[in-house]
Amino acid sequence: MMLPRRTFLKIASASAASLVFPMLSGAAEAAPPKKTHLVTLSFDDGFRKSFARIAEIFEKRRLSACLNIVAAGLPEDAYIKNSPLGDFTLWNELKQRGHEIMPHGYRHENLARLPLDQAQDLVRRCLGVFAEKLGGFDPKQAVFNFPYNASTPELERWLPTQVRAFRTGGGAINPWPRSGQAKLTCVSSGPGNCEAAIDRELARLLARPSGWLVFNTHGLDEEGWGPIRASYLEALLDRLLARESVEILPAGRALAKYAV
Ligand SMILES: [Zn+2]
Repeated sequence: MMLPRRTFLKIASASAASLVFPMLSGAAEAAPPKKTHLVTLSFDDGFRKSFARIAEIFEKRRLSACLNIVAAGLPEDAYIKNSPLGDFTLWNELKQRGHEIMPHGYRHENLARLPLDQAQDLVRRCLGVFAEKLGGFDPKQAVFNFPYNASTPELERWLPTQVRAFRTGGGAINPWPRSGQAKLTCVSSGPGNCEAAIDRELARLLARPSGWLVFNTHGLDEEGWGPIRASYLEALLDRLLARESVEILPAGRALAKYAV
C-alpha cells in the first residue's frame, strides 16, 4: 500500500526521532510497578446503607467498588429481608460515580435447584431489568454473580452466551485473568463476621507469586450474611494500597484490563 507522502514523512521522522531520542517515544519513562496480585472484594445483595458507605470508602481511596445487586425486589432470604435494599436510582448514581454494578439474580433464586429452562428464564429476566434500568449496562462487559454461588455445569456452559463472565463458588484464588476467561470462583464466609476469612485468603494470595483473589462479602457492620466492619474495610484497603504488587479492582474491570 502506498502511503500519502505526508503520512510517510510523519512516520519516518517519528521513527528517526525515537532512535535518536528514546525519551520521545516514551521508552525512557519509568514503568509503573508491575502488579502481580489482584484483589476483588465482591459485595453482594445491595443493602442500601452498606452499599452507599462501601462506595464512599472506595471513592475516598480513588477505587471502584464491586457491587452486585438483586434485580427485582426482596427475596425470601432471612439475611437479606432484614435490611432494606437500595434501588436503581441509587445504583445508577453509584455507577456514574465509577463503581461497578453487576447482576446477582432476579430475586436471588438458587438457580442450581431449578430446571435449566426456568433458571435461564430468570437470568434473562434479571439481565432485562438491568438493560432497562441501569444506564450504560452492557451484558458483553457484565459478570453474573450466582446467588448462593450456586451454579450447574449446564448453566456455566450457557452463561457466556449471555454475559462476559460469571462468578460462582470454588476456590478464592483464581489464576491471573486470561483471554477468554468466563468463569471466576470465590469463597464467602458467614453467617457471622468474615474478616478472619478474608485475612486468611489474603495471606494465601500474597504467599504466591501471583494470583487473583475474589472474595464474596455482603454488608457492613450488622447488615447481611457474613458482614465486615466499615473500620476493617478502611484499614484493609489502606493495607493493600501500601503494597506495590497489589491492585484492587472490581471483577468486570479486572477482566477488561487483563483478560485481553
Ligand atoms: Zn446474595
